[in-house]
Formats: sequence, C-alpha cells, structure tokens
Amino acid sequence: EAKIQGRNRYLLFQQNLLSLSQARLRIENSLRRAINEQKGFYLEYQPKINIQTEQICGVEALVRWQDKELGSLSPADFIPIAEHTGLIVPLGYWIFEQALIDLKTLQLKGIDLHSMSINLSARQFEEPSLLDHLLALLHRTGVKAEKIDLELTESAVMRSPQEAIQTLSRFQQERMTVSIDDFGIAYSSLSYLKSLPASRLKIDQSFIRELEDGNDDYAITASIIEMGHNLGLKVLAEGVETQAQCALLKKIGCDEIQGFYYSRPLPLEKLIEFIQQHNDGLNQ
Ligand code: C2E
Ligand code: MG
Ligand code: MG
Ligand code: MG
Repeated sequence: EAKIQGRNRYLLFQQNLLSLSQARLRIENSLRRAINEQKGFYLEYQPKINIQTEQICGVEALVRWQDKELGSLSPADFIPIAEHTGLIVPLGYWIFEQALIDLKTLQLKGIDLHSMSINLSARQFEEPSLLDHLLALLHRTGVKAEKIDLELTESAVMRSPQEAIQTLSRFQQERMTVSIDDFGIAYSSLSYLKSLPASRLKIDQSFIRELEDGNDDYAITASIIEMGHNLGLKVLAEGVETQAQCALLKKIGCDEIQGFYYSRPLPLEKLIEFIQQHNDGLNQ
C-alpha cells in the first residue's frame, strides 16, 4: 500500500514537472490530428453593433476547439502553437470555408449580414497563395467578396509594414475589407498608418476595460477615434461589457462596438436567435 501511494505521489510529481514545452508538444500533436481528421473545431460568432442605430453591422468568426483528449481549449492556448508550427494555414482555410458556409446558411434564413469578419494571423498572411485560396473558396461557396472583412492585428501588420500594405491592397482590389485588430498596443508607426489599405480600426479591449470619463484610457480611446476618422477609417471598440462604456463610446463618436454587453460569441443557431430577437426589438 505504501508503495502504491509512493508511486502515485511520484506520478503526481512527474505530472507537475510536465514542462511547458511538453504541454505545447501535446497540444501540437492533438492539433495536428484534429486538423487532419477535421474534427473538434467549430466557430462562434460575435455580433458587431452600430453604436448610433444599434443595428447589427456584422459578425466576427471566432474558432473554438473541443478536443476529445484535451477538452476545450481557448484560442489563446492553441492559436500561438498553430501559428508557430504552420498548422494555422490549413486550419485557417477550414475556418474561412466554414464561415462562408455559415454566412450562406444565414442568407437562406433571410438574414443578410453586412459583413463577416475573419481573423488572419501573421503566418497565414505571409502565405503567398493566401489570396488565391480565399478567392477559390469564395467562388466555390458563392459568397461575394465584399461580404468578407479580414482582421489582421496591428502587430502582424507592423512585422513588415511594406509587404502588409501591398498584400492588403490586393485584398481591397478584390473588394474585401480590412480591419486592424487589437489596435493601440503595438507601437504603430503613424507614417505607415496613413497608407494602410484598411477600412476599420478595432481599439484593443485593454483600453476599454477601465474606460471612464476623463481617465487615461479615455484620452487614448478618444484620440484613436479622432485619428481614425481623420484618416477616413471606421472605429470599433472591442470588449465593451457595460452600459456605461457603451454610453461613453457613443459620446466620443465611436462607430461600432463589440463585446459581452450586447452578446458573447455564439454558435450559429444561437446567433440566428439573437439576430431575430435583436431586430424584433429594434422594430418595436
Ligand atoms: P480577437 O480577434 O481580438 O477577438 C476578440 C476576443 O475577445 C475573443 O476571444 C472574444 O471572445 C473576446 N471578447 C469579446 N467580447 C469581449 C468582452 O466583452 N470581454 C472580454 N473579456 N472578452 C471579449 P477569443 O475567442 O478567446 O479569441 C482570442 C484571440 O484568438 C482573438 O482575438 C484572435 O486573435 C485569436 N483567434 C480567435 N479565433 C481565431 C481564428 O479563427 N483565426 C485566427 N487566426 N485567430 C483567431
Ligand atoms: Mg479579431
Ligand atoms: Mg481584438
Ligand atoms: Mg486579441
């Protein structure tokens, strides 16, 4: 008995020693298998709201992974690993295709969203065949390119701004729009911002979290909105959780908001319910 206990304790000890790199390796292996089998991934959608009209102006697709061994993992846990290993490329195509299929489903239900936002990580963005691949998927699903908004983080853009400007302008030529995600935390060079082929800045949620009239986050947020507008861009605030944040953002001229205050990211069926209820509420 003592021996078994000792062994258990040893196993526990060993488990605690499971280093970060081993944990990463486990996730990587499961990720590879899940991508090969195309199993365990699904998408949720978070509505984006026009702050003036309160209309839903689009949704953002967010990937979810429920692994049969690892359980459910958040994108923060597996997207960086998928990026690092290049697995984000095949996963990204799956995400894009699934989002287009779901957009079609919404259209068939009479819900014609203005746009579907899809996140692209830097690694996907650097793939030379990305645009051709996306165009082929649009063609195959019959979704119009102008329905698609691509979200790229400010830090991904700033990794190599000149290349990013070229690639983004090619997306724009194909009539897709571009949003700069997590804006405000990556030390953008303002001279690049001026020539960035984008239509929207998404203010990072770290500025919204403690947003209050007159505080530093308020000053930064108001400045981003003013600068964005002067550059001809729409400005969206991410991570809006309260009525107070919403009112303040409206006061300082923010165009769009996204966050738990209106809705968490939802699976497709719940999204359909949300949109129907929301629109009924607006029409009353
Ligand atoms: P992101 O693109 O900036 O997405 C916004 C994140 O904020 C999402 O987390 C969303 O669930 C969360 N969020 C939305 N509203 C609120 C709020 O009011 N409060 C708080 N606390 N959080 C809110 P999620 O889904 O965990 O995704 C995290 C990041 O993972 C994303 O940040 C994006 O960079 C990446 N990611 C997610 N899905 C995809 C994808 O399909 N492809 C790629 N390449 N990256 C993705
Ligand atoms: Mg995003
Ligand atoms: Mg963001
Ligand atoms: Mg983010």
